[in-house]
Amino acid sequence: MLEIKNLHATVDGKEILKGINLTINPGEVHAIMGPNGSGKSTLSYVLSGRDGYEVTEGSVTFQGKDLLAMEAEERAAEGVFLAFQYPVEIPGVSNTTFLKTALNAVRKHKGLPELDAMQFLKLIRAKAKALNMNDDMIKRAVNVGFSGGEKKRNDILQMAMLEPSFAILDETDSGLDIDALKLVADGVNSLRSPERSMLVITHYQRLLSYIVPDHVHVLAYGKIVRSGGKELALELEAKGYAEFGSPEAA
Ligand code: ADP
Ligand code: MG
Ligand code: MG
Repeated sequence: MLEIKNLHATVDGKEILKGINLTINPGEVHAIMGPNGSGKSTLSYVLSGRDGYEVTEGSVTFQGKDLLAMEAEERAAEGVFLAFQYPVEIPGVSNTTFLKTALNAVRKHKGLPELDAMQFLKLIRAKAKALNMNDDMIKRAVNVGFSGGEKKRNDILQMAMLEPSFAILDETDSGLDIDALKLVADGVNSLRSPERSMLVITHYQRLLSYIVPDHVHVLAYGKIVRSGGKELALELEAKGYAEFGSPEAA
């Protein structure tokens, strides 16, 4: 699915990723944990193709293709999805319009026919219902005036609609109360499938007791310094990240 080799990346001329190696197979859920400022979000931005992140060394192969050679839109059309740490607001554009455009772009790329308004509405209502989102929420402008928890649910709704092959969730748990967290985790879990892989970035172990990962990695100051199974998350929760050094030492 995804193979990252010796990935180095800079932001504003400063090297943030310092040689990341990571292989994610179809169906696997990998978690990345690590201290603040270690480059977790940078990794998700580099993978999704956000402007301002320069890859200086290494490669990323996605389903056999050179991911880094693709524009952000192309990556999305190929099935890469990034749920933002801080979901974006798009004033003036309704959730339904936004998602219909995004979904039909993906379908077109896959050679599937576009969904008409009725088909689309039926689909989005069914998916929204599973996330406890009402008609009002799906018709409102994208994320405008949404609470933190509503934005996260909207993120998961986007993911459920677009059915990506590879989804990155960057701190989807931050700012969620326990009920919203469970709802989001249920939404994510319902999307787990043998064909879909996920990279779940989180600061805390809590989310990982609901979205149980196959592999856990520690990203500290630009490198993956440890990898293990789901039990590693519990160990990190207990011991913290101190053993992995400090930004000054990196
Ligand atoms: P994490 O998500 O692990 O908390 P980030 O990837 O957000 O870490 O940030 C990693 C490092 O990159 C931090 O030291 C941060 O200050 C720096 N950084 C991120 N974005 C920028 C930017 N646009 N300009 C300069 N430094 C940045
Ligand atoms: Mg951070
Ligand atoms: Mg971050």
